[in-house]
Amino acid sequence: MTGMGSDINHRFARAYWYITAVVVASLMAVRGINHIGALKRLKAARDPASNPHPTRPNTLLSQLWATTTAIVREISLPQFFVPVRHLSWLTPPPLGRVLVLLVYWSVIAYFMSWHAVVHDVNFWERIGYRNAWVTLTQLPMIFLLSMKVNIVGFLIGTGHERLNWLHRWVARTMFVTATVHGFHFWTEWVLADFVELEMETMPMVKYGLGAWAILLWNVVIGFVPIRRLAYEVWVLQHVAASIAMLVLVYLHVPTNARFLFWLAVAFLVFDRAARWALLLWQNLRFKTGGSACQGRRRVGHQILARAVADTTTVVTIKDVHFAWTPGQHVYLWIPRLGPLEAHPYTIACARRIEGTCCCNSVQLILRKHKGFSKRIHSYASKNPEASLTGFLSGPYGAPPRWDIYETMVLIGASTGASFTLPLLEAAAQADFVGCVKRIEVLFVARTYREIEYYVQRAQKAGDALSQRGVTINIHVAITNSALGSDGLPLSRNETNISHITASSSGESNPKTAIKSSPHQDSSCCCTGTNADEKDTQEQQEKAISSLPVVREYTTRPDIEQLIRQPVEVAYGETAVVVCGGPEIVATTRNCVSRLSDERAVHKGTGAQGIYLHVEEYSF
Ligand SMILES: Cc1cc2nc3c(=O)[nH]c(=O)nc-3n(C[C@H](O)[C@H](O)[C@H](O)COP(=O)(O)OP(=O)(O)OC[C@H]3O[C@@H](n4cnc5c(N)ncnc54)[C@H](O)[C@@H]3O)c2cc1C
Repeated sequence: MTGMGSDINHRFARAYWYITAVVVASLMAVRGINHIGALKRLKAARDPASNPHPTRPNTLLSQLWATTTAIVREISLPQFFVPVRHLSWLTPPPLGRVLVLLVYWSVIAYFMSWHAVVHDVNFWERIGYRNAWVTLTQLPMIFLLSMKVNIVGFLIGTGHERLNWLHRWVARTMFVTATVHGFHFWTEWVLADFVELEMETMPMVKYGLGAWAILLWNVVIGFVPIRRLAYEVWVLQHVAASIAMLVLVYLHVPTNARFLFWLAVAFLVFDRAARWALLLWQNLRFKTGGSACQGRRRVGHQILARAVADTTTVVTIKDVHFAWTPGQHVYLWIPRLGPLEAHPYTIACARRIEGTCCCNSVQLILRKHKGFSKRIHSYASKNPEASLTGFLSGPYGAPPRWDIYETMVLIGASTGASFTLPLLEAAAQADFVGCVKRIEVLFVARTYREIEYYVQRAQKAGDALSQRGVTINIHVAITNSALGSDGLPLSRNETNISHITASSSGESNPKTAIKSSPHQDSSCCCTGTNADEKDTQEQQEKAISSLPVVREYTTRPDIEQLIRQPVEVAYGETAVVVCGGPEIVATTRNCVSRLSDERAVHKGTGAQGIYLHVEEYSF
């Protein structure tokens, strides 16, 4: 493949990776600057007398940085949502990602065509070779971006799930360049009446066609409606197909171009080895016994699954061996319920605090769909006392900090609350609340039963926070109908937990309602001695009298109002964290962008920044 124009082609291959290095280094620098800013804020927050609003920029340089950040956010957030049922997957990425893609495509188009389109005798061959190189150059990038133990993510401070969109788009781009490569050679052979001879004498052509066919297959069945038909089957065939493609690429390219192939293999092998190492490290114990919860296993973990509503299962995994930050997720593998499936779930509790739990358990909250989550729900319904053996891999993800913003708006739709609740609980459990002065929490679900468990925990966390001077409001929006789950109307009102419990679950005694929730925050999440129970009961009685206010809505929540109100009264920066489906995510993106633009954030009006963090729980 060295072929025609090999100097330029080599140079472009190197340039592609130099550009990548520069982009990663720049993002690392941005991360470093933001980290220093965060440390300064926290330092200032410890001395409120000297600086009551530590999240406001107070030097020319920090003001410049804040203005630039605000402009980048405003440009990158807007997203056009396709509100048509079954077609919402056609929703394009937010503007920021579209711009990134446009820049990427411009660079690739330049590489594909620079001094290649010359109408001479070598026209077909020159473009063919050039695009062979442009294609092969991108091959390692696809594997780099698909890594779960992701080096780029580690360097720039993001998770594998947030780089996955780029993996898909680079693969689609590579398909285009591979097609241009093949088309030009093929056309040349057709024009020279050479196709048959070429196929006979050059077996590498067949391997190339095979690799291209697999790439086409991966691109076509990678589109959302097909990919999500049976995601786990899709993953298995995708891995197998990609390895087959690598083998064919190896056979197709000449030796002097194989360094790019080996780079791709290195990324793949590193990722797999790291994942296996993590899996073994987190699921093997040399010591057994001794755990107060009897949950310790030599291989794997004891898993308790409890169905807490028609669509929700709470899974407790005992004796985990790792630390995590609130909002991170793990992959859960329970061979008995899905031998070849590992599913991502957010750890639905804040980081463990030393001495508060005897068995170091983590909790996951699973929404029932049609596959594994349905199987575990029905297992838990039929065997409420049984336990399972399962394996964890992770933790993965880079959730946002909760302590460096003055106001937090946490929006969780359905099990999206598993992402936002741990942030709230982390704030409630921390010794120092950092810069936080106000938190608005919104839970959205079709029925109250889906989120009852989250609301109760949020109230306890909210109580702890309000006692420390943080203003906290909890909003609950039930979108299914104008009626509560037991037929009582849920008019927009302000209420405490006893009203909610009475109107939603039919439970008349609020204390019982709280107690009956699984795994409440007692001194140990799994067992309770009588003394523990007494303590817990006393705490709960005390808590009920001071639980924070909950506002209920029977319609879709007005996200704009929810964000606007706290932003308009904030003296410092606001963080909006949203976790939910594509519609609520797009709405929130557009609201934040509009609000930031309308208020001319950091452009001389005094309006302060709005940071947005989005999680979608989907690939
Ligand atoms: C980072 C992350 C964190 C998540 N956290 C939670 C959580 O805390 N609670 C919760 O209820 N859900 C969470 N999810 C979603 C959860 O992983 C899927 O709902 C679950 O895997 C569905 O399994 P199933 O076999 O029952 O689904 P199916 O009925 O087969 O499919 C339902 C949907 O889930 C998707 N899905 C299926 N398997 C996977 C998989 N292995 N990885 C990703 N998506 C998959 C499918 O594409 C489809 O859109 C999270 C997803 C991600 C990516």
